[in-house]
Amino acid sequence: MANEIVVLPDALTDRIAAGEVVERPASIVKELLENALDAGATEVSVALENGGCQAIRVTDNGAGIDGEQVPLAFTRFATSKIRAFEDLYRIRSFGFRGEALPSIASIARVEMVTRRADSPAGTRVIIEAGELKEMTDAGCPVGTTILVDRIFASVPVRRKFLKTQATEQGYCLDVVTRLALAQPGIRLRVTAAERTLLALPAVPGLAERIALTLGRDLQEQLLPVMGEKGGSSLAGFVSRPVYTRSNAAQIYLYVNGRFVKDYLLNHAVMTAYRRTIEPRRYPAAVLRLEVPAEDLDVNVHPTKLEVRFRDPREIYALIVESLGCAIGAGIPPTGQSEPAGGSATGQAVYRSRVEEALRRYRISGGQEKLFFGGKSSGKADALPSSSGSPSPEPLPPPSQSLPETSGEATPPRLRFADLSYLGEVAGTYLLFTGSDGLWLVDQHAAHERILFERLKRTAEQDGERVPGQRLLLPEVVSLAPRDFAFISEAIPILAETGMEVEPFGGDSVVVKTLPVSLPPLEAQQLLQDLLADCGGVERRLPFQERRERILTALACRGAVKAKHVLSGPEVAALCRDLDDLPQVLTCPHGRPLVVCLTVVELEKWFKRR
Ligand code: ADP
Ligand code: MG
Repeated sequence: MANEIVVLPDALTDRIAAGEVVERPASIVKELLENALDAGATEVSVALENGGCQAIRVTDNGAGIDGEQVPLAFTRFATSKIRAFEDLYRIRSFGFRGEALPSIASIARVEMVTRRADSPAGTRVIIEAGELKEMTDAGCPVGTTILVDRIFASVPVRRKFLKTQATEQGYCLDVVTRLALAQPGIRLRVTAAERTLLALPAVPGLAERIALTLGRDLQEQLLPVMGEKGGSSLAGFVSRPVYTRSNAAQIYLYVNGRFVKDYLLNHAVMTAYRRTIEPRRYPAAVLRLEVPAEDLDVNVHPTKLEVRFRDPREIYALIVESLGCAIGAGIPPTGQSEPAGGSATGQAVYRSRVEEALRRYRISGGQEKLFFGGKSSGKADALPSSSGSPSPEPLPPPSQSLPETSGEATPPRLRFADLSYLGEVAGTYLLFTGSDGLWLVDQHAAHERILFERLKRTAEQDGERVPGQRLLLPEVVSLAPRDFAFISEAIPILAETGMEVEPFGGDSVVVKTLPVSLPPLEAQQLLQDLLADCGGVERRLPFQERRERILTALACRGAVKAKHVLSGPEVAALCRDLDDLPQVLTCPHGRPLVVCLTVVELEKWFKRR
């Protein structure tokens, strides 16, 4: 009878479950590593055969399993980690559904040797196709070793979906790296065919673990992050804007200890870096978010990497503001009292970014569109009426090798005016000497940043419109129809900067004033550059972003060009202006504006070290 309802045999349900839990060798590595950590291990080693496609062995020095309990560990929904439904909300262990071991055992051959500290002998079991084949006493150290082999031998379809051994091995290493960054205190080792792929000692701090795992060159570029908001907290490290990668692979985010891949969190990180790194470049970040259990939707599926927050706005703002502070926009960490004066400008800028991004962000699967409400959203109440020079948080210099920059203490802020000017190179780079070494400033990038910040400050000023510098003769510029449409839409933005533009019949406009912060320029040229820079997709960008692009284009046009030698007083003025800014060490396009060759580096070059 085709329609008869039957209860599926265990062998089949186990395999169905395995389909969810064990997708590829890396899933096995993840489950076994997590079990080892749940068992309190401090040392774990992983051995891979054929990239993990053939066999995987994980050895830990954790608590081990009591002999009588071993068969239970391979039974579905058998776990030592929760007892009641409520436990799900407090869960801090990685595993809790009791599915990993039976799932793995249903698609491979598993051999386990385990011993608890209080038992004189260990236990050895062999499980094949989900069935216990052998169970004996065995002499072994305290802890557990699991050997999983003949992986997917009984599920040939799965094997077909695997990629090359090198790729699968890469996935396995990704899994180990994610755990390594979450747990600096655990000693980890990965080997393949007797070769060591990864050997990480236990270290006390996250910065050291990041350096050992992601590369020494990153260590010198790390900025500590700390922040708190509404019971949630954020801690970790991010890279300086000068350190970027072509993809987001070095962004590691953890929520209550679990690695997650989450659109909202990633978006918040990128928002914090906007205008400090180039488009399509990504920073490195290792961030741990701690959220009260009741504010987080329980991650009931152990392999799912997404999370749901009760208040995504608050989490988003926490990240953007804490990172903004670390990167150096000069805003105090969330929760700290704000010093009076200009730093509120930075705060307002970041708030408006949060607001803008949230307006576009939808919770995946949810219908609700989010708004950054509350009285803090308006810039009117966040901006002081006369925003003098901002007084930013101190930030370490951008040196490529100052050792203390990865420690807890923040070195004093770099002051350009304190450096002595030596001269220029190629009419483009200004050379300075300071106590830490030799500093090189890209004059165009630096000037561009200064103009950009000034234009932005003018544009964000509320109330009265800022007057521009009136042209002796208003300049009429005729445009192509689609350019006319773009400029017409940009009129309010241009007006905010002090640039008065009006339609002048047909597809032409008349320019009456230019921003005061820009040197005298030809209006025609300025508009053409604006169109060139903001053409294409930028025309459809949301207001806030479009405004930043327009300001960047204006600043770029107004900034002193390369191959133009500056006089001494001009250099001094540039330094003073740089010191007046919130310390951002890149131009608005995201390129570095200053580079330091430290004394240590110089000594290395001259073989004194
Ligand atoms: P879960 O981790 O969800 O509880 P698993 O199937 O992964 O489910 O493991 C079942 C049980 O076996 C665990 O709850 C734990 O008690 C025990 N266990 C598994 N691996 C280890 C290990 N490496 N060391 C000690 N105990 C383990
Ligand atoms: Mg588990």
